[in-house]
Amino acid sequence: MRSLFRATPNGPPGAYDTYGVRVPRATHTIPVSCTSVGCEHYENGWACTVIPDSAEQKTLIDAADGRIDGMRRQYLKPERTPEGWLRYVFPAGQPCFAASAHVEQIKPATTLIQRGDWRRHERPSIVSVPEWTDRLGENQQRIIDRQSRG
Ligand SMILES: [Zn+2]
Repeated sequence: MRSLFRATPNGPPGAYDTYGVRVPRATHTIPVSCTSVGCEHYENGWACTVIPDSAEQKTLIDAADGRIDGMRRQYLKPERTPEGWLRYVFPAGQPCFAASAHVEQIKPATTLIQRGDWRRHERPSIVSVPEWTDRLGENQQRIIDRQSRG
């Protein structure tokens, strides 16, 4: 996983509020099919271009043959591009390569506010979406007002 970049704020942690939205995948989503999410690749098909005999070509073939997520995909005979690459065309109507990642949210997000930032913070308060939106908007307006005063 890519590491997260965090700028170190100028003030102490207690000078900040953190506004969070949590949608844990395990408890708030269920896996769904390409058709349930209106997947563009399912609807229209897609193409991938790879260098022959490369690691990317091997991964593409593994994914098409179902060795990555268990779902097989059909493709047309690969065409060689003028640059010497191979272009694989996957016709519409079959699971895309992201099919196992398609999810539907089944529970509302948890919106929370906590005093502090990533360095140190208090226990978060769970608030309603309207309250979260109002307080975030007021906070942003205070920042804008302070910056415009100089
Ligand atoms: Zn899809």
